[in-house]
Amino acid sequence: MSDCLFCKIVAKEFNAEIVYETGRTLAFRDIKPQAPTHVLVIPKDHHADAATLARADDGLADEVLKAAHAVAVQEGVAEGGYRIVFNTGADAGQTVFHVHAHVLGGRDLTWPPG
Ligand code: C5P
Repeated sequence: MSDCLFCKIVAKEFNAEIVYETGRTLAFRDIKPQAPTHVLVIPKDHHADAATLARADDGLADEVLKAAHAVAVQEGVAEGGYRIVFNTGADAGQTVFHVHAHVLGGRDLTWPPG
């Protein structure tokens, strides 16, 4: 999608600190980190949110989840524990409508989230 910020990151038209990449996924550091590790994992194809991604039915949601775990391992937070968050819809705080998994770790994460 031409007006989508995360599609522009995939196309390398917008700068981001990329930390992990597969054929169909990309992971980059959040510009406003909420934890020592805060990485966004996206499918390169445009899907607005997790609900749309879940309906894609081509294994892409699985690849995003696997990439999120690989990022956690790479960042050294997998053993201690980490959080994968998909804000889905405006009421949940989603602001960028290209589905992304927040991978958060490196500090004690409280529950419930705000
Ligand atoms: O779940 P939500 O849609 O609110 O998350 C969007 C995330 O994208 C935010 O955490 C924001 O800091 C991040 N972001 C980014 N780089 C940008 C624009 C937004 O990492 N250029």
